[in-house]
Amino acid sequence: MSAKIIDGNAIAKKIRGELAIQAATLKAHDMKPGLSVILVGDDPASQVYVSKKIKACSEVGIESQCLRFPSNIEPSKVLALIHKLNQDPLVHGILVQLPLPPQFNVREILESISQSKDVDGFHLYNVGALVVGQTVFPPCTPYGVQRILTHEGIVIEGKNVVVVGASNIVGKPMALMLMQQNATISICHAKTRDLAQYTILADILIVAAGKPGLIKAEMVKTGAVVIDVGINRLADGRLVGDVDFQAVAEKASHITPVPGGVGPMTVTMLLHNTVQSAQRTFEKREQTWQALRENDRYHFYHSDLAAENE
Ligand code: NAD
Repeated sequence: MSAKIIDGNAIAKKIRGELAIQAATLKAHDMKPGLSVILVGDDPASQVYVSKKIKACSEVGIESQCLRFPSNIEPSKVLALIHKLNQDPLVHGILVQLPLPPQFNVREILESISQSKDVDGFHLYNVGALVVGQTVFPPCTPYGVQRILTHEGIVIEGKNVVVVGASNIVGKPMALMLMQQNATISICHAKTRDLAQYTILADILIVAAGKPGLIKAEMVKTGAVVIDVGINRLADGRLVGDVDFQAVAEKASHITPVPGGVGPMTVTMLLHNTVQSAQRTFEKREQTWQALRENDRYHFYHSDLAAENE
């Protein structure tokens, strides 16, 4: 078997096209989707990720701003800015680029973001909502994987899904999201004994460990769908995933490449969440106006009646 290589760039492009239309429609109703990104310090990888996010925003018509702080900034200053952004009606999404310098309590920063603007989906409320299947903002990377599976017409219900990696931002939310779709889930991590005994049973294998070459062909069932979330920079400068791509592609039915698989979907889901947040704000505004109009009609009608009865 030779796997279908899933083109994450093409799927992302299609979704971004749809988001651009939705953003333009919102703009026409005086509701410009807006994202604020907070970047602390000068970590080179973070700078690249943030500039990619800002560029992607402008491509789909999201107003974005990057707010930068030096690495020695007092956390209270960042918290004060987040509180201000929480109140700003032009901001629909707030994202704090991680990692943060050591003086920060990351949880405190993430919890200070309004749940209704937490487009990364990292706030405790949003994480908890995921557990009961009431996602407010699905975390971007697992949501990107879910959209890839849907796009490829891969049935989730009843499938054996093995997630390798149990981080709070990828592995755990990924498992929860697919459990909501009635898959049978196993989560493996660095302490799992004999990883292969789990991976070999997977109809869908999702790998997010950050270990190049972790998944070899003999660990994969023939015909499995293999999604490689890992991003690793090798000593020779090449970017690779966690899966031995060439060998596993001979066995799998579908496989995502690195780069060009899950990566482009992650940023796209951030755009999705931001536009979705603006859409919700728009719908709330319309409901409020509608209620006010009805209230006006009520008062108008009753003041007319009162005048007639005078
Ligand atoms: P993390 O370091 O927070 O978590 C890694 C997880 O993998 C842990 O649960 C750990 O126990 C597990 N693990 C490590 N070695 C293992 C092994 N030998 N066997 C089984 N499990 C093992 O990392 P993360 O933030 O979840 O990211 C994981 C990978 O995904 C990284 O390569 C990261 O760069 C990549 N990533 C990609 C995207 C994207 O958009 N494509 C987004 C986020 C993360």
